[in-house]
Amino acid sequence: MTTSNYSLILGSKQCQLNIKDRLLIRHRISGANMENELTIRLSIFLGTLVVIAVWEFLLPRRQATVSRLIRWYSNLGIVVVSSALLRWLFPILAVGLAHLATQRGWGLFNNFRVPYELAFILSVLLLDMTIYFQHLVFHMVPRLWLLHRMHHTDMDFDVTTALRFHPIEIILSMFVKMSVVVVLGPPVLAVLVFELILNSSAMFNHGNIRLPGAIDRILRLFIVTPDMHRVHHSIMRRETDSNYGFFLSWWDKLFGTYRDQPEQGHENMAIGIELFRNPKYSHLHWLLIQPFINKR
Ligand SMILES: [Zn+2]
Ligand SMILES: [Zn+2]
Repeated sequence: MTTSNYSLILGSKQCQLNIKDRLLIRHRISGANMENELTIRLSIFLGTLVVIAVWEFLLPRRQATVSRLIRWYSNLGIVVVSSALLRWLFPILAVGLAHLATQRGWGLFNNFRVPYELAFILSVLLLDMTIYFQHLVFHMVPRLWLLHRMHHTDMDFDVTTALRFHPIEIILSMFVKMSVVVVLGPPVLAVLVFELILNSSAMFNHGNIRLPGAIDRILRLFIVTPDMHRVHHSIMRRETDSNYGFFLSWWDKLFGTYRDQPEQGHENMAIGIELFRNPKYSHLHWLLIQPFINKR
């Protein structure tokens, strides 16, 4: 059921119901909405994870260099910690805030007459561009790099690397996304679709998967491919500081941060950060304290 369905139901019943009944209905509907949203998110997340993991098993791009068991336990563990923290700290997340912005008339698209389809497309594009710039800023500002470098300490690169972000970075990123939602007032569905696309796309482009060169080139005209994002995980800092996109490949090309291939080639390039080559840093507790390790 879409948000417009909810307003339709609420709109037609409103004249016969008192305020208490209306609040109760709204509460039940948003409860059902939350459950639906969670089911959709979990199904797409698990579906993409399984498809890419099977693809990695059948057609791997590189050989693993450290224990997959420890990496998978840590990378999947950190996403559980982040998700629990987000739910605990935030009364509503980006999609809920977009719903509230629509109800209260906050943001550009809720105050100017913009066709729904145009508002939808612009919202997805602007959210993706924001995440690109957020990623760039996390590389450029030394204190933010301390939070973000944990993503780069992974010594291998596979579907679970897409989930390996420090919980503090996830929280800051949610604030950034929510600020964009308040300023833009995007359609609720656009925010949900964007988050689903971003998560699936990140799992795809972190995949240790082999794609024919011609297909990679065609896909790269639009989206970030695994070969494009792997360059970003290179141990060489100038390669790390390139290819910041997570969904569309356009922002890197537009803002001059695009790098086509790694100097050492995809099979030979070293992945990770020189300071953290010890496999002990792959353990979950080291991931959590990573920003506070005094190593530069
Ligand atoms: Zn990065
Ligand atoms: Zn990455």
